[in-house]
Amino acid sequence: MKAAIYPGTFDPATNGHIDIIRRAANVFDEVTVAVLDNKAKTPLFSVDERVNILKEATKNIPNVKVESFEGLLIDYCKRKDVYVVVRGLRAVTDFEYEFQMSIMNSKLSDGKLETIYFNTDLKYSYLSSSSVKQVAQFKGDLSDFVPDFVADMLLERLGDK
Ligand code: ADP
Repeated sequence: MKAAIYPGTFDPATNGHIDIIRRAANVFDEVTVAVLDNKAKTPLFSVDERVNILKEATKNIPNVKVESFEGLLIDYCKRKDVYVVVRGLRAVTDFEYEFQMSIMNSKLSDGKLETIYFNTDLKYSYLSSSSVKQVAQFKGDLSDFVPDFVADMLLERLGDK
């Protein structure tokens, strides 16, 4: 069985993330979306909220699981015994960071961990969790960016600020 892990902050998941998950699920037998619980950051949504958003958004894709993890990605991969990591690339600006991280992860795993990149669908190439939060702050139309229930959550949390 070919399994992969798609790690990220997902604060919150956007249609761009969901598109990558759907496409990865077509390539791998099982995809685990792994939400990073980073105590050093203050995300808008708690780790449980971020996990629940992803569970709801992917409930129709049977070979997708959603979990959270803390600490180093490589340690999580070892615990799961899965050494394929999926990441999304939007633009060249993503590349440098992703490249650095994949080399670091490869080193930390003695070359065992492979990072596989999915190019963004062109229609999501401009989309990021932070830009979606900015639009929500000014009560902009979020319908092209996130599922409706996520738009409601964003507006509830940010819309009146
Ligand atoms: P990070 O994990 O760097 O904190 P995110 O949680 O936003 O960032 O993203 C997780 C992964 O999804 C990253 O590989 C990121 O490049 C990718 N990604 C984010 N938004 C999009 C998008 N619109 N299209 C494709 N990939 C994306």
